[in-house]
Amino acid sequence: MAELDKPQRELATPSDWTYASAPESRDVVRLAERYGHFVGGDWLEAAETYETIAPRDEETLAAVGQGTPADVDRAVTAARAAFDDGWSSLPGSVRAKYLFRIARLLQERSREFAVLESLNGGKPIKESRDVDLPLAAAHFFYYAGWADKLEYAFPNRRPRPVGVAGQIIPWNFPLLMLAWKIAPALACGNTVVLKPAETTPLTALLFCDVLRQAELPPGVVNIVTGDGRTGAALVEHDGVDKIAFTGSTEVGKAIQRRLAGTGRRLTLELGGKAANVVFDDCALDQAIEGIVNGIYFNQGHVCCAGSRLLVQESIYEPLVAKLERRLATLRVGDPLDKNTDVGAINSAAQLAKIRELVASGEAEGAEIYQPPCVLPEQGYWFPPTVFTNVAQSYRIAQEEIFGPVLSVLTFRTPEEAVEKANNTPYGLSAGVWTEKGSRILWMAQRLRAGVVWANTYNRFDPSSPFGGYKESGFGREGGLHGLEPYLEFEE
Ligand code: NDP
Repeated sequence: MAELDKPQRELATPSDWTYASAPESRDVVRLAERYGHFVGGDWLEAAETYETIAPRDEETLAAVGQGTPADVDRAVTAARAAFDDGWSSLPGSVRAKYLFRIARLLQERSREFAVLESLNGGKPIKESRDVDLPLAAAHFFYYAGWADKLEYAFPNRRPRPVGVAGQIIPWNFPLLMLAWKIAPALACGNTVVLKPAETTPLTALLFCDVLRQAELPPGVVNIVTGDGRTGAALVEHDGVDKIAFTGSTEVGKAIQRRLAGTGRRLTLELGGKAANVVFDDCALDQAIEGIVNGIYFNQGHVCCAGSRLLVQESIYEPLVAKLERRLATLRVGDPLDKNTDVGAINSAAQLAKIRELVASGEAEGAEIYQPPCVLPEQGYWFPPTVFTNVAQSYRIAQEEIFGPVLSVLTFRTPEEAVEKANNTPYGLSAGVWTEKGSRILWMAQRLRAGVVWANTYNRFDPSSPFGGYKESGFGREGGLHGLEPYLEFEE
């Protein structure tokens, strides 16, 4: 009798399929107790500091500088001096050399950066390890390639750098947003003053170490930490030639008002309320994975998250049943555990905002589903959530929640899907799930969104431009388009 044919009764069938914990060691990260600002290639002592924490358990990680207008002024002065003293007139191939070095150093130190990103921001280590870090390095590689080819990218237009760029980034992809901002600016010959988000300054501060290793000339990149007041001081500073901002629509509008009429350049990448549109001819299991990735990736702290699911009525019931079953398999917990799918909410303020909007959804009459899961007692946590019976007028269908919360709506015809998808003040991204190529193209032409993914979601590549319509902002990051905001042309 063959071995495989023998009855296997003596082998006990496991009854518990719970994953054993697989924590990533945090020993790879060495933190200072206190950080100042990185100005002119040196650390500037911060007069005032605040504590930055780990959202998974509220552990204090370090004291970080609260940048004052005087600190911002020093950083802008250093950036201007570096611009005038040679960075802007260096041959593109030499600027490329520095960018290539930075990219390689990020790759070499990616484990250290990934652990720190998850510790300070709360995102699962498998995301920071497999998405944030590879993409951040890829961005530097990509723009290193353009640095000596600007004349070819913009033929007969004589591109030259804008000057000092003030860059303000959010907390959802701290290192990746830094890369999106710094790589094209430097490739074009600009110098930079960057302000990371208040809650996630640590990978930007570690990045200063990479800049030193890469021997980037002092003052080309300056990093001033602090809260919104520091960002406002950067916007106010007359020595800044261009502001690049990613964050909330509210702050973006205030910055636009402030810069109106000054002649200073501005790009804004703001919020979103993307529609993920699922037709009845789609590959349903793949669509379920795309829906989950679309909204629960990075706890839904994603400007292009597929937070409004539009489902064709004929498949509504099987889809919702499959989705709820899939949600029950998501592992919520320690961001440093390699098995974790959904990590910690970034801050107490963001958790309060999510709770408030979820409560409004229940009060307005939507039906809530949350899978059974045990949330840690300390830290900031919110379970993956689905709302059904959602009307378009509900706040959960209108406002950006920026958390792991999905609102499900239905449609009957493609025309109705387009109308509902576009019924939002935002226009950053959208998703379409169907087996028909012609329908994908028909939809993509009608959806008012900067990015339309077809049969996939949340796919990024440095060569692809990214940016919004309407209240999602203007200007593009990534690709050839991402160079233009950092260049002036003699035409
Ligand atoms: P903000 O827009 O306040 O933060 C984005 C960045 O701008 C941060 O570095 C912030 O500093 C800075 N900032 C804040 N106020 C000013 C100001 N007056 N002038 C210049 N810079 C300023 O977003 P929040 O962190 O408050 O998040 C609120 C909501 O915004 C979220 O719930 C989400 O809906 C949305 N959001 C959208 C993002 C996107 O990618 N489109 C990213 C982040 C948030 P500080 O962190 O210190 O406040």
